[in-house]
Amino acid sequence: MAQVTDHGGGVRSVEVPIPDNPLGTTLVYVVDTDRGPVLIDTGWDDPASWDALAEGLLACGTSVAEIHGVVITHHHPDHHGLSGKVREASGAWISMHAADISIVRRTRGTRPGRWFTYMADKLTASGAPEEHVAPMRTARSRMFPGASPALPDREIVPGELLDLAGRRLRAIWTPGHTPGHVCLHLEEAHPAQLPGHGRLFSGDHLLPRITPHIGLYEDPDDETVADPLGDYLDSLERIGRLEPAEVLPAHLHAFTDAPSRVRELLDHHESRLTDLRSLLVTPLTSWQLAVRMEWNRPWDDIPYGSRNIAVSEAEAHLRRLVKLGHAEAVPGSDPVTYVAV
Ligand SMILES: [Zn+2]
Ligand SMILES: [Zn+2]
Repeated sequence: MAQVTDHGGGVRSVEVPIPDNPLGTTLVYVVDTDRGPVLIDTGWDDPASWDALAEGLLACGTSVAEIHGVVITHHHPDHHGLSGKVREASGAWISMHAADISIVRRTRGTRPGRWFTYMADKLTASGAPEEHVAPMRTARSRMFPGASPALPDREIVPGELLDLAGRRLRAIWTPGHTPGHVCLHLEEAHPAQLPGHGRLFSGDHLLPRITPHIGLYEDPDDETVADPLGDYLDSLERIGRLEPAEVLPAHLHAFTDAPSRVRELLDHHESRLTDLRSLLVTPLTSWQLAVRMEWNRPWDDIPYGSRNIAVSEAEAHLRRLVKLGHAEAVPGSDPVTYVAV
């Protein structure tokens, strides 16, 4: 049974399941244009997910073969996973922001072994204990999801209208969750006349109830010291200022009052930074900081993969604190420790 919601004004969503994931589903949006339906995101690459997408499109009165184009909010496999299959079935173009296209290109060109070596070295540098790093060093042959994502054929240009016949959909660059994340602003009156400026497809940038993961932009080929949390907070303010009448996120459900959701998220990160700064009265590695941070469950109950994500999130917060001049690396420490200043 396909789960389809009609949001009015030629926009529907299809719930596409994400296997073994507490988020449950990705909301794939179907936007009617004069040249055929365009999808915003496609969902996880899995047979059951593909069936859900295909059935959902039939319930919308169209089909996979009819899809004219695919707009991707960011490269993550729960958003971009099925793009290749949709293109094969329909001849649709796929568009994405250049910064995420280069991640797709790198993922396609990198053998998993190189990635695991990079992650193992990085975890060691963060102060992770050897028993945590060891499985990463032997994980060589294991496949990981999204190992060969589809290479997009168009670039989403920030600030510009997408080439969609009969619609006004503008790309808003919102880096943070990924370097090339975009939100898409449908600059058309709300179909139910809700007050505000159009509707915003927010991807993972702005979600109800949950805060998106903000880690480092892990790239074995890039030595740039990025500040993803700083990028994210800036992008949040940009979205709040748009004051969309309704937000259509990629997970959970549509909601209104974007500015107050933005405020909640800004407050959340601000109080988290304050808490972390107080933890850094004694010098800590990023691993030690992650262990002491507050998560949705005790550290001992956090599974292996989620611990790696947690360390990345701790590092993103450390980057921010260092950039703000609230913390600094202790000279000569190895693995490097950070202390509040
Ligand atoms: Zn994501
Ligand atoms: Zn997602």
